[in-house]
Amino acid sequence: MAYDDNNVFAKILRGEIPSKKIYEDQYALAFHDIAPARPIHVLVIPKGKYEAFTDFAAKASAAEIAGFYQAVAKAAQIAGVTEAGYRLIANTGVNGGQEVPHFHVHILGGGAVGPMVARK
Ligand code: 5GP
Repeated sequence: MAYDDNNVFAKILRGEIPSKKIYEDQYALAFHDIAPARPIHVLVIPKGKYEAFTDFAAKASAAEIAGFYQAVAKAAQIAGVTEAGYRLIANTGVNGGQEVPHFHVHILGGGAVGPMVARK
């Protein structure tokens, strides 16, 4: 599927809609989720046009992949969750419950995040 340039995170990257940015470098942008699911809920997105993790892993350069995950670690540090712990989530595709089609990692913390997923 082709990358949708009108997805909300593409608009945030272009500065067309505002975000509460906590960290940015050449590879990634980190900002607060608009509807936090935990006291700390930060999203980290790569600057390249990747629809989901699968796409990112297959097509991004080694430098982009390393730079992105280093940015995730920096964002966690800046958000203040590194010492107490946190959860990273990358919802992927339909079954993964991904809503925004630009690859992103959620950083959740600021208290115990709880069970990994609800058991069926
Ligand atoms: P997904 O379900 O795709 O993994 O997560 C998308 C996340 O993006 C959700 O947690 C949602 O609250 C967040 N989100 C959606 N629209 C916006 C927006 O305009 N600004 C920000 N900061 N977060 C958004």
